[in-house]
Amino acid sequence: MDTKLKAAILIVSDTASENPASDKVLDALAPILAAEGQWETPAFKIVPDNVLQIQRSVCDWSDGPDWYNLILLSGGTGFAIKDNTPEAVSPLIHRHASGLVHGMIAASLKVTPFAMMARPVAGVRDKTLIITLPGSPKGAMENLDAVVRLLPHACLQAAGANSRNLHAGGIKKLESEAGIGDHQQHHHHHHHHHAHDHGHGHKVPKAHTSPSERPQSNDPSAGPNRRYRSSPYPMLSVEEALRLINEHTPEPEVVEVPVTTSLIGSVVAEDVYAAESVPAYRASTVDGYAVIAPEPNTTGPSTKGIFPVASITHANVGGNLQPLQPGTIARITTGAPLPPNANAVVMVEDTTLDSCTPDGKEEATIEILTGDVQPGENVREPGSDVTLGSKILASGDLITPVGGEIGLLASTGTKTVKIFRKPRVGVLSTGDELVEHSDPRTLTGGQIRDSNRPSIISCLNSWGFETVDLGIARDTPASELEHALRDSLRGVGRASASVDVIITTGGVSMGELDLLKPTIERSLGGTIHFGRVSMKPGKPTTFATIPFKPTGDDTQQERQSKLIFSLPGNPASALVTLNLFVLPSLHKLTGLGHSSQALAFKPWLAPQLGLPRVAVVLTHHFPLDHKRTEYHRAVVTASRSDGRLYATSTGVEDVGQRSSKVGSLAKANALVVLRPGRGVCIKGEIVEALLMGDVHGSDTRLSC
Ligand code: AMP
Ligand code: MG
Repeated sequence: MDTKLKAAILIVSDTASENPASDKVLDALAPILAAEGQWETPAFKIVPDNVLQIQRSVCDWSDGPDWYNLILLSGGTGFAIKDNTPEAVSPLIHRHASGLVHGMIAASLKVTPFAMMARPVAGVRDKTLIITLPGSPKGAMENLDAVVRLLPHACLQAAGANSRNLHAGGIKKLESEAGIGDHQQHHHHHHHHHAHDHGHGHKVPKAHTSPSERPQSNDPSAGPNRRYRSSPYPMLSVEEALRLINEHTPEPEVVEVPVTTSLIGSVVAEDVYAAESVPAYRASTVDGYAVIAPEPNTTGPSTKGIFPVASITHANVGGNLQPLQPGTIARITTGAPLPPNANAVVMVEDTTLDSCTPDGKEEATIEILTGDVQPGENVREPGSDVTLGSKILASGDLITPVGGEIGLLASTGTKTVKIFRKPRVGVLSTGDELVEHSDPRTLTGGQIRDSNRPSIISCLNSWGFETVDLGIARDTPASELEHALRDSLRGVGRASASVDVIITTGGVSMGELDLLKPTIERSLGGTIHFGRVSMKPGKPTTFATIPFKPTGDDTQQERQSKLIFSLPGNPASALVTLNLFVLPSLHKLTGLGHSSQALAFKPWLAPQLGLPRVAVVLTHHFPLDHKRTEYHRAVVTASRSDGRLYATSTGVEDVGQRSSKVGSLAKANALVVLRPGRGVCIKGEIVEALLMGDVHGSDTRLSC
């Protein structure tokens, strides 16, 4: 064979990772592969008994363009507490190869009954065969010996090679070398149907066992006789779901950033004190003339009369000003510094021009009409707006788009500020049927345009969050979803940057291609906190966290938890659940839960997590669902005549004959919360609503 296969060896051992020289396994295994003549010199790495490091190494070798045909792991397969190699590897495997496991155990059993205490794992991830071996050099050699002759054949099959496109030498040669024939070639494609395909002639597949003997599974490869037929996830109330989201949303992270307009929408994480006073000098608040006003109760010269204009001060002058001499005045513009000795400013409106300079270009003398000018009149003292060192913003303050906070930071020369880092959100659509909305081709068959991704991204942007477009993940092959999620956690591949929160749509219902839940739990080691909520729409909404270790092999680095919101595919459900569940979590990550001490005394002013909740009057009957709380899209307007908020459904089908102009013309800006019940919620009733958008005025009034 002219092209050699690529193998990699991963030693899993705390000891060897501290002292690589102590490893004996590489020297034991490499010659066995070399003797076969079909393998390149293996890649090699040592990691401690750490699930994430094991997984990262395996994925580095199996995923991506430079994938290996074979990954051998040695160590961590026993019963000791720290032995977790099987737990790390199992979830990464797409197709298990229990035959290889049996083969290795059978061979070891001939040597020692302790072979029963090995917990080997073998199987295929994408195109890579992965096998775990014992940690002892002897055990690892025995196990590899038992299977090594089969490996080239297994790897080529896993890589998708067939007898037509195989390299010179061909699979026949490999098979004859390994002593196996053609008949097994396609075996693995059907392995999960095997249980009921043989032995009897039922047309309809029939279970061999009673349901209680069949452990149910959300493993998509489990096949219909083991797949759940009703969701295994308990149905939570919206309130309980929101509580879990809050509980599992991490505390916000503090970062120090330069003062720029991109601070808008951020929450201050540490009190900010004025670095400069405002104003920094004695400034005039009007256009007029700087004067020396007599101190009260003294008999200084009056400011009334005719005075020579000694100088002119504009707001932009630098350098030293000439002191004002008694008996003279100085022309001054708004905001300009008073010359030394001056203590008040007379407004230009309280003066008349007495004479000009000979060339007529400047005022020579001015008559001041008021005599009772007080010291300090029309003057801002240094620090009178903001005193040097005073607190200008408190931890928990929101930097609003209105600009007051940015203005304060800017005027006091604040260079950096500590804020809570806003989360970056990735948005992924899932489904074989989806087509990019911009795809010029006409749709065929069951294709639909991906509308969820653009609408969710624009909603997130309008809330002020940075987004990462993760594109579409197909349902088949199943690994695409897993890869897409892994990429977005690490900010590689399809993800332009790593994200803190992932929003997916589709794939959370009960179909066999609804892969989100099994992928999160089984392949990514995540925890699903809820998978069903008693609400309409949005029942299959799923919330999970995935442990994530930032790149770099530094074991000290904190493990982070990334959030995944898997929203239903139906566009209306996706938008309702985005507003209801994702926003409060993003708000918490932004630090909005940390309202400032000042607001602790005015809790009604403290920012709430999620959409604002208000009471609205219904303008017509709303039908009720008798089991689930409904989040009914509606237009809420503020009445110009009676000061109340009115809600009108935008779903014309629910309004029936009472089709309302507002409802059919305008877009929903609110979700009316309709608790479960019989019949309808009647016109005029007051219910809770969540405001999604701006509220406009209307002439609505209701007399009942
Ligand atoms: P699923 O939960 O994946 O079965 O999807 C439920 C429904 O939502 C199906 O009718 C899908 O075609 C539709 N759907 C899923 N994803 C999207 C999307 N990104 N844009 C528009 N519709 C979608
Ligand atoms: Mg789908």
